[in-house]
Amino acid sequence: MEASSDIQIQSMKVPHLVILPAPFQGHINPMLQLASLLHSKGFSITVIHSQINSPNPANFPNFHFEPMQDVSNDALSYVPDPLTALSILNDKCQTPFHDTLSRLLSDGPHGPVTCIIADELFYFTKAIADQFKLPRILLGTTSASFYTTMAFLSLLQQNGVISITADAQPNTLIPETPLRIKDIPVFSTEGPATSEQIWANILNAIRSSLGYIMNTFDGLELDALVKIRQDRHPTPVFVVGPLYKFLPGTLNSLLTQDYSCMAWLDKQAPQSVIYVSFGSVASIDKTDVEEIAWGLANSEQSFLWVIRPGSIHGHDWVELPEGFEEKTQKRGRIIKWAPQQEVLAHPSVGGFWTHNGWNSTLESICEGVPMLCSPYLWDQNVNARYASHVWRVGIQLENGFDRNEIERAVRRLMVEIEGKEMRERVGALKENAMRGMVKGASSYKSLQSLIDLIMSL
Ligand code: UDP
Repeated sequence: MEASSDIQIQSMKVPHLVILPAPFQGHINPMLQLASLLHSKGFSITVIHSQINSPNPANFPNFHFEPMQDVSNDALSYVPDPLTALSILNDKCQTPFHDTLSRLLSDGPHGPVTCIIADELFYFTKAIADQFKLPRILLGTTSASFYTTMAFLSLLQQNGVISITADAQPNTLIPETPLRIKDIPVFSTEGPATSEQIWANILNAIRSSLGYIMNTFDGLELDALVKIRQDRHPTPVFVVGPLYKFLPGTLNSLLTQDYSCMAWLDKQAPQSVIYVSFGSVASIDKTDVEEIAWGLANSEQSFLWVIRPGSIHGHDWVELPEGFEEKTQKRGRIIKWAPQQEVLAHPSVGGFWTHNGWNSTLESICEGVPMLCSPYLWDQNVNARYASHVWRVGIQLENGFDRNEIERAVRRLMVEIEGKEMRERVGALKENAMRGMVKGASSYKSLQSLIDLIMSL
């Protein structure tokens, strides 16, 4: 589907965008989807990128790539927490980004730079864009619900409207939200900056940008988006999701996707397979693998399970429990990395057991697949809570990985009436997503407004 194909820039000059993705799969994907979409509208694209998780230029022959001399590929392997990684990246990328940009501005092959589009996590770009007097737009890669949670909760706390104390019960509901105390991410960090400072940096960077792009759609997150708009957000918000649906087939996987699973899916009955994958960052214990294996085996349902190499603490790979393969060989398949969007779109897939990274959540909704939710960190608890309790298209596993709870939940999702109703609700949300992308509808119009803004620079 290329619903926006008739949006084209009307100008003789080719605007040149400098794109700066954050070096994580869940951030690279939407940024390169956006860049591909803008390129298809007539923009010229230079991608400045970290040495960590570099995108493959061969997949984007029309883009110009500029690697930064920032940090080595394993520099983030031993950091104690994600916020420390973020601090390090913002610190180490500053000079290389400045120098690369400076070179591009003086002798770049693609002419003057019209605008920088950077990941929201790269708050360091504000100072550099200001220095070069370049407009800066940020791409948000989480849900609007998470953004409002982070942006408004701290405000409500400061003003004494709500109070989250250290001794609060984890299951206590937070007034005026669907969230419980335990859904709010706690960011502790051993890094040089406190978590409050980092959040303040991110929010300041967003609020001082020329525009904020969100990869979601009105037909899913209207309440959160209304809240953002009512807040008189100082910067225009462009709600252009689901990005991957505007230009399907953008190739940007960091790991090799195992397409052999598609032929296997072809042989399965409609909506009979639960697809299991916890994304590119989450890691689990060896004991969790056993619980997952027996939960799947005992559910008697077919499954396609991604076990990403390195995703099990302390092990490159893991032996599956004895007897598991024998019990599941006719109805189970394990692979190392999937072509996830194609898998979710396959008619044999009837459920997705996910960690609720925002891309995975969005892809599940936009393919009409209900979820089992096992959130891990960052925005995932909030996404899982919305999926299970607001959109009612998922079942959240509340006790980590327990084989009995898993067996029960898989059956509820795959064969019981509860799952059928979730499938109907998620099907309606999928329709909303598609409707938002057609000419004159919300995401289409937002994309047009974004293009108009850049063209006005
Ligand atoms: N993905 C994939 N193959 C897999 C698992 C994930 O291609 O086996 C892709 C998925 O389609 C999504 C991204 O990796 O676009 C994961 O992003 P998400 O925000 O869901 O989670 P993260 O990896 O950032 O935790």
